[in-house]
Amino acid sequence: MIYLKTDEEIELLRENNILVSKTLAEVGRHIKPGVTAKQLDKIADEFIRSHGATPAFLGYQGYPASITVSVNEQVVHGIPSDKIVIKEGDIVSVDIGTFMKGFVGDSAYTFAVGEIADDVRQLLDVTKEALYRGTAQAKAGNRIGDISAAVQDYAESFGYGVVRELEGHGLGRKMHESPGVPNYGLRGRGPVLKEGMVICIEPMITMGSRAIVFERDGWTVRTRDRKPAAHYEFAVAIRKDGPDVLTDFSIIEQ
Ligand code: MG
Ligand code: MG
Repeated sequence: MIYLKTDEEIELLRENNILVSKTLAEVGRHIKPGVTAKQLDKIADEFIRSHGATPAFLGYQGYPASITVSVNEQVVHGIPSDKIVIKEGDIVSVDIGTFMKGFVGDSAYTFAVGEIADDVRQLLDVTKEALYRGTAQAKAGNRIGDISAAVQDYAESFGYGVVRELEGHGLGRKMHESPGVPNYGLRGRGPVLKEGMVICIEPMITMGSRAIVFERDGWTVRTRDRKPAAHYEFAVAIRKDGPDVLTDFSIIEQ
């Protein structure tokens, strides 16, 4: 069942996703060589709570932390620990969720730590551009497959892998609502996009093979070939006049 949101509900979702954007910015300010993923988790947890929200990931299907921190070959769902120490040249994908006023925010960003290799920089740029290209298709009358194909075609044109086992989703009172939003697919297929739908688009793109493995902790997803992966995520409302992005990356990139 796909829940269409009222304008008021979309504003509450925007409030949540702006808070997620601000939390990502706060975490990003602290991503420096020597910081641990556990410290980043604590910073985010305190920031979210000080703004009257709770971290939506904590306890979600038993997830043990407030954010996910996925470094280099880790794609998503990395559990922050004090054993993960950030170093120069790393890429760090941070995914954050909030719960406030009955609705959820959910967005992600991949940060570069100092100087990174040119080919890794390109992976980040292409993954973000794939997100923008998918978002441009998020308008009433289009189908989910139009978003999926836009993401896939752009990422694969660089020879990158598109992770298939995980996907975007509807967003509302729950973090994961219908419809699923795959990062691969065919134009003109899948559910029709309607005004009032709110979805998360979240390409997970790998530099090498798209094959992934789940680590023994039951959460962390990494590339099988241990090549780097990037992940960016937006929440987008489908409006009459086109996509209305509820997440604000400019807060992070300032
Ligand atoms: Mg997310
Ligand atoms: Mg998501």
